[in-house]
Amino acid sequence: MSTNASKKAFQEAQELIPGGVNSPVRAFKSVGGTPIFISEGQGAYLTDVDGNKYVDFVQSWGPLIFGHRDEGIEAAVIEAVKHGLSFGAPTEAETELAKLVVSFFDSIDKVRFVSSGTEAVMSAIRLARGFTHRDDIVKFTGCYHGHSDALLVEAGSGAVTFGNPSSPGVPADFTKHTLLAEYNNIESVKKCFADSNDIACVIIEPIAGNMGFVPADKEFLLELRKLCDDNGTLLIFDEVMSGFRATLNGAESITGVIPDMLTLGKVIGGGMPVGAFGARAEIMAELSPDGPVYQAGTLSGNPVAMAAGFASLSKLKQNARVMAVLETRAKRLVSGMSSAAAEQGITMQTDVRGSMFGFFFNEKPVKNFADAVKSDAGLYAAFHAGMLSEGFYFACSLYETGFISTAITDEMIEQTINAASKVFKAIKNG
Ligand SMILES: *Cc1c(COP(=O)(O)O)cnc(C)c1O
Repeated sequence: MSTNASKKAFQEAQELIPGGVNSPVRAFKSVGGTPIFISEGQGAYLTDVDGNKYVDFVQSWGPLIFGHRDEGIEAAVIEAVKHGLSFGAPTEAETELAKLVVSFFDSIDKVRFVSSGTEAVMSAIRLARGFTHRDDIVKFTGCYHGHSDALLVEAGSGAVTFGNPSSPGVPADFTKHTLLAEYNNIESVKKCFADSNDIACVIIEPIAGNMGFVPADKEFLLELRKLCDDNGTLLIFDEVMSGFRATLNGAESITGVIPDMLTLGKVIGGGMPVGAFGARAEIMAELSPDGPVYQAGTLSGNPVAMAAGFASLSKLKQNARVMAVLETRAKRLVSGMSSAAAEQGITMQTDVRGSMFGFFFNEKPVKNFADAVKSDAGLYAAFHAGMLSEGFYFACSLYETGFISTAITDEMIEQTINAASKVFKAIKNG
């Protein structure tokens, strides 16, 4: 398999774009090698600029639950384009998508659309602070909530609860209101509440997908809900990734824990840039122009993006069974791969929720970020490279999640397992 055209494209890109990419993980730094440059996607497959074809388990990092170039979504986008790309004035498409989004969740009465998950979370935090008139927030190590300053806080600095910025360019003053707790560890959250009586909100990925795939324990979320209630603190579920991916009706539908606010992204735009945040009416009433908390966006609610989102979510709504089908495939994939690994003496930890799957090369179950970092990164890199050369595109970092799209057939799952078996054997035989 030649990847010469990708190598050349990467070299050229690096001259003009830092690291050759517009989002860092794409650069393959954590697995080594050269990123594959894509020429097109179709159904379950990606084709690169050298003409190689891959079964895609990344799906643009989540959005493409119906695979590449879904006919309904593509037609909706083309139709919208014919009416104009952007107006900066309200359209009925926004209300239609809002109605559909709200219909999926018990927790939200109203929703505001933005253009990315980062913006959704950043705005939700501002609204939580405005609503509660408090400054501090709690986040969990290993959870990712986009790259806004206050949320870009080092994962894993266990002892101190007040966070340090994880990137130069973020003043320490900007993160001094961000308290860190450990995922699935309620005592660490209690410590935050002991340290501060000014906590506006606790934000969590209830089904975490950014430290590898680590769903929260139901009991932990129940206790978290109670702690927030006892302290007048809002609970925000960041479901930018898990929304419409792990279940159709949010983590609230499988845990019974209802958040005060919800952030969404990825699938909600069907492949176009859309994010959203929602809450019950009383909270949303504080948002501009109804209330004093300011938030805006020139391209927010963009008509082409709304059309893609509406086509994607209405197809999900009409095919409510689809998540169970995807879950069966995801379960077969991880159980098949871990049996193949076990045959070579390699231990895998796996988990699945709906169309999301994850695996760690780790001797012990992974409950938080500290567990996740004990996984075998070298083994993941070898697995990734081996699968790529067999024609299977997995996330280029072990701290990511895998996604099944409806275009991935049972037969492709079996092919993937067979390829994994071959790759594990090759790894073991050095
Ligand atoms: C992807 C993601 C974000 C950020 O969304 P962008 O669209 O990349 O800005 C925020 N939160 C979670 C849970 C995510 O997975």
